[in-house]
Amino acid sequence: MFKKIFSRLSSDIGIDLGTANCLVYVKGKGIVLSEPSVVAVNKKTGQVLAIGEEARKMVGKTPGHIVATKPLVSGVVSDFDVTEQMLRYFLEKANDARGFPIPVRPKVVVGIPCGVTEVERRAVEDAGKNAGAGKVFLIEEPMAAAIGVRLPIQDAGGNFVVDIGGGTTEVAVISLGGIVISRSLRVAGDKLNEDIVSFAEREYKLFIGERTAEDVKMKIGSAIPLKEKMEASIKGRNMVTGLPEEVNITDADIRRAMEKSIREIVATIKDTIEETPPELLADIMSKGIYLLGGGSLLRGLDELIQKETKIKTQIGDDPLTAVVRGAGYTLENMDDYTEIFLETEELERPR
Ligand code: ADP
Ligand code: MG
Repeated sequence: MFKKIFSRLSSDIGIDLGTANCLVYVKGKGIVLSEPSVVAVNKKTGQVLAIGEEARKMVGKTPGHIVATKPLVSGVVSDFDVTEQMLRYFLEKANDARGFPIPVRPKVVVGIPCGVTEVERRAVEDAGKNAGAGKVFLIEEPMAAAIGVRLPIQDAGGNFVVDIGGGTTEVAVISLGGIVISRSLRVAGDKLNEDIVSFAEREYKLFIGERTAEDVKMKIGSAIPLKEKMEASIKGRNMVTGLPEEVNITDADIRRAMEKSIREIVATIKDTIEETPPELLADIMSKGIYLLGGGSLLRGLDELIQKETKIKTQIGDDPLTAVVRGAGYTLENMDDYTEIFLETEELERPR
């Protein structure tokens, strides 16, 4: 009985508010939710119609006045109201998954991209509080991801992490529990999908949707030529005839489509290496580069980065969940991590 009350009061929550996917971790329980960061809104009334997976199914299939938006498009809160509603929905759903009601104002740890402005930080914090959180702790995503894969971030030694998500690629060097250098590039998985959409238009005069592009990227996409040639068919609408059409596309086509963006990602990693203090670089040379986020799953990307940087490169364990697992780990071990949360002004909520 007492145990139950206690666990109810202490059900703190970790959130990865990603541009592509939102994941929720409940203390003592693990990951309870993982859904696309998509919200469908009726533009005429402003009403939110669907959130998460349900909203994603509507992308590109809605009538004109209904728009399925990604409120966190560049990794920050670009649409505050919608973000808040999404956050509240996920928090409620996470609590339903626990089987008992929402606890009293839980602690919430939220991962945010590096280099967001004070205003943006505040927006995330407010969205969390308005959505029912007691205290909101903010943690930089590459830091959370590094903790998620248990890199020794508190030691005096360099850790190099690259988190390739939907909207942004975040590159960071972490030592002694702090981020020494970081870079954020607005080129990541979503841009690769857009590249494939443009390629189909340019080369085949074929209109395809973003989801079709993403599917084909995952199915046959690669950053370097692989031993095996791959092919897939994509369905779209011919721009000239206006009629539906199916076209065969190869792994080489997809590579050509994504080439420029991938080069930008590699260049950002190289630039960060060039900026890294030599003492830390020595550690990184021996420990290697860790790739995280869904974008790191693109075939051959690890190999390409290793070849270009001449530093051993590996994909972190379960890269899509690293950030939320890291946020969860800090909740489970709050006392060890007080220093790594971002400073935010504490404001008492009016009663
Ligand atoms: P965010 O943190 O921004 O929400 P995620 O880490 O969840 O992003 O990664 C989402 C991105 O990863 C999407 O752009 C998706 O297309 C891409 N992705 C996921 N799986 C794969 C895969 N197997 N191959 C290539 N890209 C992938
Ligand atoms: Mg992410």
